[in-house]
Amino acid sequence: MSDEKLPTRAENYSEWYNQVVLRAEMADYAPVRGCMIIRPYGWALWENIQQALDKRFKQTGHVNAAFPLFIPMSFMEREAHHVVGFSPELAVVTHGGGELLEEPLAVRPTSETIIGYSFAKWIKSYRDLPLLVNQWANVVRWEMRTRLFLRTLEFYWQEGHTAHATAEEAEFETRQMLEVYTRFAYDEAAVPVLPGLKTPAETFAGADHTYSIEAMMGDTKALQSGTSHNLGQNFARAFDIQYLDVNNTLQYCWTTSWGLSTRFIGAIIMTHGDDNGLMLPPRLAPIQIVIVPIARNDEERSRVMEVVDQLKKRLVDFRIKVDDRTELTPGFKYHDWEMRGVPLRIEIGPRDVDQGVVTVARRDIPGKVGKITLAMDGLEETLKLLLEEVQKAMLARATAFRDANIHEPKDYAAFREVVENGWAFSWWCGSSDCEVHIKEETKATARNIPLDQPEGHGRCIYCGQPASQRAYFAKAY
Ligand SMILES: [Zn+2]
Repeated sequence: MSDEKLPTRAENYSEWYNQVVLRAEMADYAPVRGCMIIRPYGWALWENIQQALDKRFKQTGHVNAAFPLFIPMSFMEREAHHVVGFSPELAVVTHGGGELLEEPLAVRPTSETIIGYSFAKWIKSYRDLPLLVNQWANVVRWEMRTRLFLRTLEFYWQEGHTAHATAEEAEFETRQMLEVYTRFAYDEAAVPVLPGLKTPAETFAGADHTYSIEAMMGDTKALQSGTSHNLGQNFARAFDIQYLDVNNTLQYCWTTSWGLSTRFIGAIIMTHGDDNGLMLPPRLAPIQIVIVPIARNDEERSRVMEVVDQLKKRLVDFRIKVDDRTELTPGFKYHDWEMRGVPLRIEIGPRDVDQGVVTVARRDIPGKVGKITLAMDGLEETLKLLLEEVQKAMLARATAFRDANIHEPKDYAAFREVVENGWAFSWWCGSSDCEVHIKEETKATARNIPLDQPEGHGRCIYCGQPASQRAYFAKAY
């Protein structure tokens, strides 16, 4: 860990973010510009995200599969909007085995095309529907401006792909997965996202419509943290995904796709992190409790380590780590684990051993205020409750911060001020013109249109025409 002080979020938010990612050993820069090396600690967090999501996907009837990394170029061109949307970001392989390929291969930026091709082969009749598949994979998008986790050339994600017999079923699926992402974000990551419909300008290339979850970061900028697309019959027509219905008539399927990526790690870092570094929600933290033994000499060390070893055996239901590095001071270790965002720290010294207690420090409440003395008796149960309390407190704090920074400006002048350092929740007439002007003049974009709309009507915050829906506007990553 670097000895240099971490820049505060107020001083330089962007540098604070980069430094936290590097110093907490979440990720590192790669030799290829825009690529990222995810270090073991960052990958452990991703694995916990994967497990939490995968469980929910399976509970809703989905199964996992794996599709190829290479996609024939001609596939990318079959769906008109898809090719226009993704062409600028494609990485293309032209040579293989030292020879020019007959047909260039796109490195998948997403897998609608190759999965559409497979679905067309697998689906024959209505009995084959719905088909509910997910894949955990890496994808490549040739981004120009990159940031660790937030936007990288290659990233990891899951992409769900489903085919249905009716438009209603496809829409139900699209919304269901939006709800799955929302519950995951709230319940596991303590990130209070706002679900809603994307505007046409922000809709996925090839989709009829797109839903997203949007999170507010510590600098009040928005981060799109997951998307769910209703693809209508666009890909079904492009790839001939058809089925025979009960009357033996050939019909096109209705398909969906939905994804959440390693970008979500950025959402966790920027929702919860403070000036001491990362703060990880207990349910996802790779290490939930770190134990720091404190001893001044060998005699004390052997007494303390005896108790630490017993504790290790008792706390098998937790993800724990014993920091028994002897060359470092306890103070250094405290800072180190604070930087890495471990929710609870147990300190045990010889006096604690004598009294049958431990000192526990909460990461979410810095300093002495967050320290409590707990009895060794029944410690498993107390720690379990304490972790749940930390999880709840983190969600409550993030929610309070989010709500304090969402405003309802009364006119466009107030709107411009609001989106400088927060979000606006404003009436919008639905015209792309207004959306474009707002973006040009304020750099704020329409994030999404929540499904639960307030009663009544208003006037568009930009043009003043009658409006029947409200949208969130904010600067975004
Ligand atoms: Zn308008």
